[in-house]
Amino acid sequence: MAMASEACALFLGHVPRYCKVVPPIGFSRRFIAVSCKMRHRNFSPKINRQTKRALPSQLKLRADLDPLSSETDNFVDNNKTIDERVSTGEDEIKEIQKDEGTSEPPTLPLQDLMKMIKNAEENILLLNEARIKALEEVDKVLAEKEALHSEIKILETKLAETDSKLKVANQEEADTKLLEAQLKQFESQISSLSDTRSTRTRTNTSSDSSLLSEINTLSIENSVLKSKVEELKEKEKRVEMLEREKCQLEASIKDLQERVAQTEEDENKFNEELQKKVKTLEEQLRVSDKEINALMKLYEESVEEFQKTLDKLKEESEKSVRDLKEVSWEFWSFLSLMVDGWLLEKKISVADAEKLRNLVMKRDLYLRETYLSCKGLNESEIIANFLKLTLPRNSSGLHVVHIAAEMAPIAKVGGLGDVVSGLCKALQRKGNLVEIILPKYDCMDHDRVQDLKVLHETVESYFEGQLFQNKIWVGIVEGLPVYFIEPLHPAKYFSRGKFYGDGDDFRRFMYFSRAALELLLEAKKKPDIIHCHDWQTAFVAPLYWDIFANRGLNSARICFTCHNFEHQGSVPAHDLKPCGLDVDHLDRPDRLQDDSSHGRINAVKGAIVYSNIVTTVSPTYAQEVRSPEGGRGLHLALKTHSRKFFGVLNGIDTDTWNPRTDNFIKAQYSYDDLQGKLINKDYIRKQLGLSTSNPSQPLVGCITRLVPQKGVHLIRNAMYKTLELGGQFVLLGSSPVPHIQKEFESIAENFKSHADARLILKYDDVFSHLIYAASDMFIIPSIFEPCGLTQMIAMQYGSIPIARRTGGLNDSVFDLDNNSIPAELRNGFTFVNADEQSLNGAMERAFKYYKQNPEGWQELVKRAMTIDFSWESSASQYEELYQKSLARARTFAQT
Ligand code: ADP
Repeated sequence: MAMASEACALFLGHVPRYCKVVPPIGFSRRFIAVSCKMRHRNFSPKINRQTKRALPSQLKLRADLDPLSSETDNFVDNNKTIDERVSTGEDEIKEIQKDEGTSEPPTLPLQDLMKMIKNAEENILLLNEARIKALEEVDKVLAEKEALHSEIKILETKLAETDSKLKVANQEEADTKLLEAQLKQFESQISSLSDTRSTRTRTNTSSDSSLLSEINTLSIENSVLKSKVEELKEKEKRVEMLEREKCQLEASIKDLQERVAQTEEDENKFNEELQKKVKTLEEQLRVSDKEINALMKLYEESVEEFQKTLDKLKEESEKSVRDLKEVSWEFWSFLSLMVDGWLLEKKISVADAEKLRNLVMKRDLYLRETYLSCKGLNESEIIANFLKLTLPRNSSGLHVVHIAAEMAPIAKVGGLGDVVSGLCKALQRKGNLVEIILPKYDCMDHDRVQDLKVLHETVESYFEGQLFQNKIWVGIVEGLPVYFIEPLHPAKYFSRGKFYGDGDDFRRFMYFSRAALELLLEAKKKPDIIHCHDWQTAFVAPLYWDIFANRGLNSARICFTCHNFEHQGSVPAHDLKPCGLDVDHLDRPDRLQDDSSHGRINAVKGAIVYSNIVTTVSPTYAQEVRSPEGGRGLHLALKTHSRKFFGVLNGIDTDTWNPRTDNFIKAQYSYDDLQGKLINKDYIRKQLGLSTSNPSQPLVGCITRLVPQKGVHLIRNAMYKTLELGGQFVLLGSSPVPHIQKEFESIAENFKSHADARLILKYDDVFSHLIYAASDMFIIPSIFEPCGLTQMIAMQYGSIPIARRTGGLNDSVFDLDNNSIPAELRNGFTFVNADEQSLNGAMERAFKYYKQNPEGWQELVKRAMTIDFSWESSASQYEELYQKSLARARTFAQT
């Protein structure tokens, strides 16, 4: 230890004076270790590197310097400073010296000292090398130790495995032994059994039975066990089955739960909807309750009204009986003689004379009234009136006066003319006294007026603060008595060569309306009904109630029919003045004031307000006009007066429009013999220069006023579509609208020599009959149509309508393909939208049916021709309206 300290000191440059060199062989292991440790820690890297390089060749250690000495570990905790160690080293040297018995420090020559140092250095190097080697050895040993440890672990694991295997093996061995023992036992049992058997055979001893019973017991046990096993198997099966069932049940439960959830959801929804419906129904119920109450009230009122009327009628009849009795016998004798005179002069037939005598005998009230109303009439007029009494008495026998601007066939522009003559004829047929008052147009068809003559007396009429004379003409048109008024006014109101359109129509017809009432008043007529039509004679209503009723013309109820709400006669309020009406009194919202334009009055509104009955010409149109658009602003007035507003579908005059009797057509025909229709078709084609090569080529007709209401663009489209579908097209029409007239004139020009299309742009009543008779199909694509007559006339002539479903067209044309309508009523082809596509669709269907189903088409034609479009039922409806209104009047008169 002292040596090492010394060496260190030398190495560090501190060479103590007293340092004593000890031969290396005497080094203790402990010392070497300390030295190595110190060197190892404090060598500079350079020295370290040198040391390492020198190691292999210089490793010639003495055998006693063992690097693996266990003592090396003792030096690890040496933390002393170098100075401390140096001092410790000195102490140790002293110790050594003590041990060796030297008390005095030796004195060495320098050479020896140098040698010693050199030796020491060599030793140090050797020691270092040895130390490194030892460290390497230590590392190696440690690695080996580690490897061994892991090997041990593996072995331990294997051991554990082996142990467990051993245990298993032991167990197996034990089992085997057990099995062997059992086997032996079994063998012995067998041998004993066989012994027993042999013994039993040999000796037949009693022990046999015990064995047998044992065997039996065993076999019983065995079978019991077997049965138990079976039972268990069964149970197992049942358990399996139960489990399956359980699974199924669980699935079903899940399914059910889901369904329950769904059902609850549905139920909630359903409940919500139900509640909503209930609410709606409750609301509807409330509304209908209200309606029912209102209706009940109305009904009660009308019952009351009816009762009053009945009472009044009873009273009247009693009074009449009293009156009759009061009438002297001379009067009845006079009538009897008069009738006889007519018979003798052959003015009436024997039958009629007989009927009239009967009436005289019964002192008939009507006969007396008729005679009294004939005051001032000439004999033939009196006879005519008397003969009306011979007609069947199933009618009310009302005196009805129609005041109108048109009457077919003498003064007809459109449907209005047809309605006036058609309705009047039907009313007359029903036993009413019907008279018509018309303007005496210079352009009317005089030839068709029978016995036209002017009365000697003129009738005076007020206009614009003056009185004007009016010539009264009488004549018979279609069997109806007609009065024509010719104003002797400088404006020559009805001598214009045309019916309408001279700019002063409002004044012309205002004048006429007043003059017509003057005539009735002057003639002392007591009509039951005065029936006026459209705006042209709408003035009659306010004039009657505001002026004439006060002057004695007060027997009548006023009926107004609006044939088209598009034309209302709306003018500045002061324009009403000339006819004598009080403008200030009438220019009010509840009277004649126009609802749509400020400062104007509206003639049609006036008629709605002042008439007792207001009608229009079809039920559908009556509904349509209740809207602002359909009523052209009169919807509110119609709503206010809805209780007296009705829609009565027009009829057609079946005397005039009858292919069986029509003299204007080339060949007459009927539904049971349609040959004549083909002749008419061929005739018109030749007349118009159309192709005649294919008799079955369909001919499409169109007869109309060319005004926007009639769907002018669709009419034009229909022509092109007809040509596209392989048909022929004939249009008869004229337009009061110049640009439309012009447009059609240019189309007509383009088609003037076309083989399949012709346009005749004029009004031609006679030619219209031919077109109806010749055509297979008829186009009516109206935008709106109050009633429309052409579709009905066309059907009477076997021409199938292709019509838009609006107004009266909707009430008279029913689509062949519409299954919701009874088959026997289906008579044409209809479309809803006012566009070309919809029209084309209907036309395509019609052409397809015509071409692909000729027999079906013939049936369709026959069906259309047999529909009753006569005025009979419509006239009855009017009669009923008249009667009801009169009944109400009587009731009011009483109260
Ligand atoms: P509107 O009254 O609106 O004109 P309707 O269908 O009610 O229409 O009546 C039209 C009547 O006028 C029919 O009798 C039809 O034959 C006739 N008509 C329309 N235009 C002509 C014409 N150019 N030539 C002959 N008759 C015509």
